[in-house]
Amino acid sequence: MSPTFRSDAYIDGKWRASAKRFDVFNPANQEVIAHVPDFGAAETEEAVAAAHRAFPAWAAKAAKERAAIMRAWFDLMMGDLDRLARLISLEGGKPIAEAKGEAAYGASFVEWFGEEAKRAYGRTIPSTTATRRYVTIRQPIGVSAAITPWNFPLAMITRKAAPALAAGCTFVVKPPSQTPLTALALAELAEKAGIPAGVFNVVTTHDHTADVGKVLCESPLVRKFSFTGSTGIGKKLGAACVASTVKKVSLELGGNAPLLVFADADLDLAVKGAIASKFRNAGQTCVCANRILVEDSVYDAFSTKMTEAVAKLKVGPGDSDGVEIGPLIDQTAIEKVEQMVGEALASGAVALTGGKKHAAGAQFFTPTVLANVTREMRVNQEEIFGPVAPLIRFKDEDEAVAIANDTPFGLAAYLFTKDVNRAWRVAERIEAGMVSINDGIFSNEVIPFGGVKESGLGREGGVEGLDEYLETKFVNFGGF
Ligand code: NAP
Repeated sequence: MSPTFRSDAYIDGKWRASAKRFDVFNPANQEVIAHVPDFGAAETEEAVAAAHRAFPAWAAKAAKERAAIMRAWFDLMMGDLDRLARLISLEGGKPIAEAKGEAAYGASFVEWFGEEAKRAYGRTIPSTTATRRYVTIRQPIGVSAAITPWNFPLAMITRKAAPALAAGCTFVVKPPSQTPLTALALAELAEKAGIPAGVFNVVTTHDHTADVGKVLCESPLVRKFSFTGSTGIGKKLGAACVASTVKKVSLELGGNAPLLVFADADLDLAVKGAIASKFRNAGQTCVCANRILVEDSVYDAFSTKMTEAVAKLKVGPGDSDGVEIGPLIDQTAIEKVEQMVGEALASGAVALTGGKKHAAGAQFFTPTVLANVTREMRVNQEEIFGPVAPLIRFKDEDEAVAIANDTPFGLAAYLFTKDVNRAWRVAERIEAGMVSINDGIFSNEVIPFGGVKESGLGREGGVEGLDEYLETKFVNFGGF
């Protein structure tokens, strides 16, 4: 049975229908599951105005009061995990168990930031003269806007909305056109939790994405803009925010994570970590191990173990029992993966398993291991965003680091080694915002998540995540 869901947008505490609607599809079978309002600039301006009106009262609440409301939102999410997971899986394709993990991960930001905002301390600064006293106070920035991607339809919203609301900001989000239903379910629970009208708004769109984005980036009422998505779009939107109104901007963009397996690694642990990192969400995560670099002397042993494990992964619709690999999000995604794998094979790579589409349906790709991959191939240079693990040989630590860093991206990196000195050394040398040692999964609400180079600006989660929604104001008391 399908999960229940809302299919109208949520603006200023009201459910807003529209005569013009767009289709939301189930990526497992391409069936239409909902019709959602296709709103444009006018409705986005309404949402921004509502958030602007709601801001003074929300910001004036004590952090403890906001935290109590957020706690209610968190509890409602945790009480509704099954439905949220089925919705994430229905519109995004994720296996149910993974979708449930995302729902709990998404909820954890609401709990963490509600609590953390109570500790948004300012400072007293020793004065430079006897006649003055200096302090800083932390204040919410104001209306915050966000644009989010489909690969984590719930968590990419709460990772932004939770620190914003906790800090005292109000919030407008444009969810992705492929997965708006999860965003609307979040709004439904926000309303039930007692989040006041205008504090959390969801504007859905399909044909007017650029117009909605323009309002969110250029409106003088919006003081903070946060984007998660591809680097190309992020650069454009970030530039528009600065050029128009000098907004504070956070960008969580694409990655090209290397996973390094050294000869001294526990190979079984490395295979487990590589599978967890590479194949989660069918390879459609920004922190996915995009390419796996393996030291010469263990390359054959690692590739044999990896191939055996990958060949066993169960492919199918997200709601089928025991499925580990669901469909890719849309036709464009599957075509891109097919093309990248085809190019690699034509240039000398070998498919140890997989290498082609899967019989489960039009948007399924067989979990793949590619050997003999070279640095020149596109599978090494670009985000694959599919269940494909390219293996590249390296001869020593210097070469491994050089290959790992030879990319404009710098989001996550993974390394497997039992040598603690090497672990420190390589973690320091790798150009990435996050390095995970002997572990393929690391995301949670307490850590600063984010990238360097063209993978982004700013951090989400952890104490750093709250800073993104606060301004530090310096106050001078003179005349002593
Ligand atoms: P995308 O094409 O950049 O889309 C992301 C969002 O931007 C969607 O809501 C999309 O709306 C919107 N958008 C697209 N063009 C726009 C425009 N001209 N103006 C305003 N908004 C626009 O990225 P994606 O393919 O959905 O997501 C995958 C990418 O996200 C990957 O590169 C991945 O690495 C990255 N990602 C990064 C992180 C991180 O934390 N660093 C996390 C998750 C994903 P529509 O749906 O309406 O087109």
